[in-house]
Amino acid sequence: MISKSSRNQLNNSIRRTFSVLLQNCSDLVICLDTDLCIIECNNTAIKAHHWKRHEILKKNYMELCLRDGFNNPIFIDPNKIFLGKKITNHACTFIHKDKTEHTVIWNITRLLNDKKEPYGLLMVGHDITDIKEAWAQVYHLDSIIKNAPGLIYYWKDRNSVHLGCNNSFAQLAGLKSCEEVVGKTDFDLPWKSQADSYRKDDQQVIESGKPKSNIEDLLIAADGTTRIVVANKVPLRDIEGNIVGTLSTAADITQLKEAEQATLEAKNKAEIANQAKANFLATMSHELRTPLNAIMGMAQILLCQNPTQEQQECIDIIQNASLNLLSLINDILDFTRLEAGKLEISADRFDFYELTHAVISSFQHQLDHKPIKLLLDYSSDTPHYIALDSRRVRQVLINLINNAIKFTLKGEINVSVTCLEQTKKDAIIRITITDTGIGIPNDKLEQIFERFTQVESQYSRRFEGAGLGLSISKQLTEAMGGSIGVSSTLGEGSSFWVEFPIKMSTSIVKQDTPAPSDSDKLNSSAIKNPQILLIEDNLLNQMVAKSLLQQLNCRIDIASDGKQALQLFADKDYDLIFSDIGLPDMDGLTVIREMRKHEQEKATTPIIALTAHVLKEDRENCFNAGTDAVITKPIMPEELKMTLKQWLGKKSIKKANLTLD
Ligand code: ADP
Repeated sequence: MISKSSRNQLNNSIRRTFSVLLQNCSDLVICLDTDLCIIECNNTAIKAHHWKRHEILKKNYMELCLRDGFNNPIFIDPNKIFLGKKITNHACTFIHKDKTEHTVIWNITRLLNDKKEPYGLLMVGHDITDIKEAWAQVYHLDSIIKNAPGLIYYWKDRNSVHLGCNNSFAQLAGLKSCEEVVGKTDFDLPWKSQADSYRKDDQQVIESGKPKSNIEDLLIAADGTTRIVVANKVPLRDIEGNIVGTLSTAADITQLKEAEQATLEAKNKAEIANQAKANFLATMSHELRTPLNAIMGMAQILLCQNPTQEQQECIDIIQNASLNLLSLINDILDFTRLEAGKLEISADRFDFYELTHAVISSFQHQLDHKPIKLLLDYSSDTPHYIALDSRRVRQVLINLINNAIKFTLKGEINVSVTCLEQTKKDAIIRITITDTGIGIPNDKLEQIFERFTQVESQYSRRFEGAGLGLSISKQLTEAMGGSIGVSSTLGEGSSFWVEFPIKMSTSIVKQDTPAPSDSDKLNSSAIKNPQILLIEDNLLNQMVAKSLLQQLNCRIDIASDGKQALQLFADKDYDLIFSDIGLPDMDGLTVIREMRKHEQEKATTPIIALTAHVLKEDRENCFNAGTDAVITKPIMPEELKMTLKQWLGKKSIKKANLTLD
């Protein structure tokens, strides 16, 4: 049996233990007497109230709360509590002077003595500040997800049962609130016809543990509209990392797709319109070239009929005006091709040295009556043979020299050709055209390479031009990998330069080669009085071609349509054939193909196409049909002569001893 003193000892020790526990427990514990004065209070309660122990013991709790501005948890008549009423889970928030906050859930009950009489109140408060903050964060996050604009969020368990969603998803599904989705599957929602495929995607994500991105789908919304959505699904994991379902986001891209479709349609329409414009310009170019051919041809014929001085001047005017018109037609056509992105650039290996000399000499006659000298300086280390698009290089060169002549009233135009940065493999060819002309103001130097830009205003123009040449030259040069630029001093002159990158392996440097002259080339001919078949339906063009060819000592038979042409070809042996492409009964290409078919056992006759169609595909069609060369209308006497020189005698060795006078 335990002694009285031992029991007392034990009781004291239990009391002490309880007291320690009470002081240090995380809940707030306060004991009040019947006057509501504080008898005892643990450290947690003192800390939460920001009190000091010696200041509050024996003080009335209600008055302390009033003093410190705290919500008092004893919100009812305390006598009711003394009579047995309990206050349970009553939340109160302390807001301290330093703005810190504590939210406490209070439970208040009376204390009874041995005689069951109340002698005070026991207040136990649980501080839920941290929990409250955590909930606030959860609520905040929930609100962000629910109200996220545009994006649709939804999460499901491993069986594709919806666990939650945001407002946009609920709206799309025709649900009154986000909570309504819980427990539903896609089979219960308006897009049930796609539910199977969604479930498969969910399972794939769950099984692989990997996200599935950019799944584009059609979705039938509750309002009956079909939406296009792009979804991303990721595995949804619990705190231990186990996959418990899927979390998805989807963006409604219906409007985007519609806009994309509208843009595509607009682009297609624009392309069709652009193509129609290009076709129109190609047709116009063809239609303008045909009469121009007659005008230029007739002028050429008149020139050969010993005109008087006065007539000669008139013919010069006709020829110059025709050439200007031709260059304008060419520029407009090029411009449209460039606009449509159909720039035709090829690379052929050609004699650049010869090309520059030929271009320079073609300008000399224009300068006969002008006090201007046109000089060429071709540096000895510049290769002669280079691989570039010779037609386009010539076009750029002609354009720059043309401008220099146009804008120079007297003095000199120097064309210099040099080779820069020469290594074993690569080099840059630089052509500089320097004139002593009117010059260009500094602020216009950049602009003149823009289309339709001219220095002089529309109403004070002294010089002709459409403002297209430099813009075309720039685009052509850049398409060949080169660059173009200018420096100029107003009133003193301009210096335009073009640089083309070239490969040295395809280049040959010739030194001390004299410039080729026209007479050199003419004397290398091989046939005298060649027999030519001219296939041309247009009477004026017949006259022009016939006259030009007769001046070159050719004997000519004319066929006005395809049938006649094939008949003549079958009956007679020709040294060369010129064929128009547009014929009344069958197209010229068919005629050429027929001729090639029938001449297999005979020697091949050179066939030159004469056409006002100038596009690359037109030329290719001619070559595919079997022509050896193509001359575009209007026929330039020089070009005709050179073509004859090149192709006469190519038919057979037997005839090669003939010469052209
Ligand atoms: P245009 O057909 O008008 O010559 P370009 O595109 O070839 O069109 O040239 C644009 C403008 O640049 C010309 O109108 C002219 O004002 C200026 N320009 C071009 N070359 C020269 C030059 N050598 N000297 C002075 N001005 C020039």
